[in-house]
Amino acid sequence: MATFKEFRNNVKPNWCPGCGDFSVQASIQRAAANVGLEPERLAVISGIGCSGRISGYINAYGLHGIHGRALPIAQGVKLANRELTVIASGGDGDGFAIGMGHTVHAIRRNLDITYIVMDNQIYGLTKGQTSPRSAEGFKTKSTPEGSIESTLSPLEIAMSAGATFVAQSFSSDLKQLTALIEAGLNHKGFSLINVFSPCVTFNKVNTYDWFKENIVNLDQFPDYDSSNRIAAMNKIMETNGMLTGLIYQDTVRKSYEDLVVGFGEQGLANQDIQMSQEQFDKL
Ligand code: SF4
Ligand code: MG
Repeated sequence: MATFKEFRNNVKPNWCPGCGDFSVQASIQRAAANVGLEPERLAVISGIGCSGRISGYINAYGLHGIHGRALPIAQGVKLANRELTVIASGGDGDGFAIGMGHTVHAIRRNLDITYIVMDNQIYGLTKGQTSPRSAEGFKTKSTPEGSIESTLSPLEIAMSAGATFVAQSFSSDLKQLTALIEAGLNHKGFSLINVFSPCVTFNKVNTYDWFKENIVNLDQFPDYDSSNRIAAMNKIMETNGMLTGLIYQDTVRKSYEDLVVGFGEQGLANQDIQMSQEQFDKL
């Protein structure tokens, strides 16, 4: 069984010192080891943004795709080789702005993929513009008078799109984040894990201290039932989307793979690929 160190490679991340994405990377590597994965059984597919570089920093199959397109690629990878465990990852701009159309439909499609969003509430790679996650009034180079658009709630959107696994965490809370990624990897269906991952260089409002003061950890509610969809939606709205933990999980609904006629038969997809290769070799 691989250790978390075997999911490391020799590429040094060029994130700014203190960027939350370091902890997200470490949590993915630990979770992958904890659920018994091997590097050759994992694919990490990412979009564009500072956080999108993560696929190059993990020893596994990886593809750093184009902006907002991590999920279409990840779904293609999973459909082509369902023996692989597939993680898609990227930032809030990548997943909730240009990629939002894909995000919503990937959620309702419910392929067995874990989507980890590093949500810093800003565009970091392009040096600090307002993202769909920025608060109203948030001042950046693109909104010098403060943002006049409402803030998008990925948790509410995921719930209304029929998500079967919705979680949120904070990059500083490695224990919780690692456990949630493990739960996401073990979930049979699409899992969304939104991670507050501070941008220390361009976001001087949503800092580590700000998150620590504003996060509402679900551990405070021992009676909370994460299988109750209405309770989950209520709690998201009551906390203005700031709650962390496993918010909702539906273990009844089958994944896309399990519902496709014929696709559920072991080996069918690989057999088809093998047949095509044999035919190709004879040409
Ligand atoms: Fe992280 Fe922000 Fe630096 Fe990008 S600009 S690496 S998001 S701290
Ligand atoms: Mg961002």
